Amino acid sequence: MKVMKFGGTSVGKPARMQQVAQLITKDNERKIVVLSALSGTTNALVEIGNNLTNGDRAAAKTVIEKLHEHYQIFIQQLLVGDLARNKANAIINEHFEFLYIILRISFSEALNKDILAQGELMSTKLFSVYLEENNIDHLLLPALDFMTIDANEEPQLGSISIKLTQLLKKHADKNLFITQGYICKNARGEVDNLKRGGSDYTASLIAAASKSSVCEIWTDIDGMHNNDPRIVDKTVAIEQLSFDEAAELAYFGAKILHPTCIWPAQQENVPVRLLNTMQPDALGTVITKEAGSVGVKAVAAKDGIIAIKIKSSRMLLAYGFLRKVFEVFEKYKTSIDMITTSEVAVSVTIDTDQFLPQIIKELEPFGSVDIEKDQTIVSIVGNEIARTDHVLQKLFESLKDINITMVSYGGSAHNISLLAPSKDKIKILQLLNSGLFGL
Ligand code: ADP
Ligand code: ASP
Ligand code: MG
Repeated sequence: MKVMKFGGTSVGKPARMQQVAQLITKDNERKIVVLSALSGTTNALVEIGNNLTNGDRAAAKTVIEKLHEHYQIFIQQLLVGDLARNKANAIINEHFEFLYIILRISFSEALNKDILAQGELMSTKLFSVYLEENNIDHLLLPALDFMTIDANEEPQLGSISIKLTQLLKKHADKNLFITQGYICKNARGEVDNLKRGGSDYTASLIAAASKSSVCEIWTDIDGMHNNDPRIVDKTVAIEQLSFDEAAELAYFGAKILHPTCIWPAQQENVPVRLLNTMQPDALGTVITKEAGSVGVKAVAAKDGIIAIKIKSSRMLLAYGFLRKVFEVFEKYKTSIDMITTSEVAVSVTIDTDQFLPQIIKELEPFGSVDIEKDQTIVSIVGNEIARTDHVLQKLFESLKDINITMVSYGGSAHNISLLAPSKDKIKILQLLNSGLFGL
């Protein structure tokens, strides 16, 4: 069994979707194909939800109508026969009917999740009609039948595996399965999702649950690059990464992978390959247990970071102090990304302001609390970088004119993290591209 996941741009144009059909039929290995929504769709669905939250039904209606038109044109170009086109139109019209009905009823968060699910439901159904028109035998496997998250919004790998195994067994005669990325059912049995970019997570969960030979993530670039290609001009693809390195890069901002999508594949030791739909023969990046080589491999940046500095005037850093500080973050289910301590102060970073006022209030009895918003974590990732010659020297030399507000080094053998004001991010990534990679 193998898993092949295709992202939004890989299915975003009729010609691309047709090419996906070619890529998945190249060999006869049994496979599960995970599809995202057509590019732009999830953004449009988010906009519809936002408009409805703000009570602006007219704006929501305009977005729905525009999207509907986009799908009608897409169908005309994807399919050739009237039979297939009529079938596809009937499917799409049903989904849009649902969206038009939502305009008339009272809006809720649960309904918003239903709206967000429409993209992946439509892309997989359209693809299935295309495969049918081309006599490619397959089965559409609804993700909502097996993909679940618990009350803490964590995927339940054990039960996903049991349900998926049963389904695959039930359809032992089938060799090709198509399913939706991103969407799932939550602990209340409602439609939910794995957060933006979550189709990668779906793919990794399915690969682990089905003990696949490989999890292929097909996208619009030839693998993980050494730096953010949206920001820096000269970047290069990395041939090999370890699970740990890839997980750090994903978590610290490399958009090519969903932040937490590596752990399921890592747990079952399924290699992950990042491949380019537009250049299928390019080598891409392979992610395995082994790192391949020692040294700096890539940098990534994560925005929207808040730094919190707690300064104790009474030597409260005595034993028990850190526990009390951490307990506050635990209480509000807010994870800490970076931490540094000195004799009288501790600084931590978080990536959400959801409970910030409550957190500040509970930290204040421990000492003075300073907040710095609009910060960015820049992570330098590689195998054994802490032990690689001159990395720190090169790093600080490259960034000598930048105001770095925090440094985390030594906590992990494959990561050095810096915190700096977000306004300096572009400059930092460019400086590191020449300073660390000579590019
Ligand atoms: P998909 O729709 O296939 O899931 P994404 O847009 O989520 O694709 O991810 C691919 C994009 O990630 C690339 O087009 C690239 O701009 C961006 N990206 C950011 N950082 C990196 C990186 N370090 N290496 C490769 N791509 C990156
Ligand atoms: N369609 C979803 C999104 O745009 C999930 C994904 O593409 O990975 O976030
Ligand atoms: Mg993505």
